[in-house]
Amino acid sequence: MEKVYYTTEDVDRSHKRYRVCKNKGNDCHKSEFMARHGSSKFCTEQCNNKYSNKEKKLFKEGNSIPRTSNIDKLRVLMQDKDLVNFTRKEIDDIGIDLSKYDHRYLDDKQNEGYGIWIGDFNITMREKNEIVIRTKIYKNEK
Ligand SMILES: [Zn+2]
Repeated sequence: MEKVYYTTEDVDRSHKRYRVCKNKGNDCHKSEFMARHGSSKFCTEQCNNKYSNKEKKLFKEGNSIPRTSNIDKLRVLMQDKDLVNFTRKEIDDIGIDLSKYDHRYLDDKQNEGYGIWIGDFNITMREKNEIVIRTKIYKNEK
């Protein structure tokens, strides 16, 4: 059975749990729904998967320029360090585009925090504003 993230309530557009599925228009069958959890962005797990597959495909089809530029910037930023803390503003000012990553995973189940990999760099976000970047070497040694 696929996981469903909406309730059986009638859709109420003024309610704070009213959502439009992020995967709307890409074979989504419940584009408007009442979310079970405040953090839901998709109506179902299936839509979540379809959306990430689409993103992956787009990435393969020619998103390599921002990726290369991200990696170059990360290299300069990290120099010879293996772990550095940044604020979101610092990352934005340097022009690193955190929406262009190779892989994304659930890092912190409790707070639904995500981590991403861009090349050999691991990036995690804490408290919205604090960004920790680790190199692959650092991750492997711990
Ligand atoms: Zn959907």
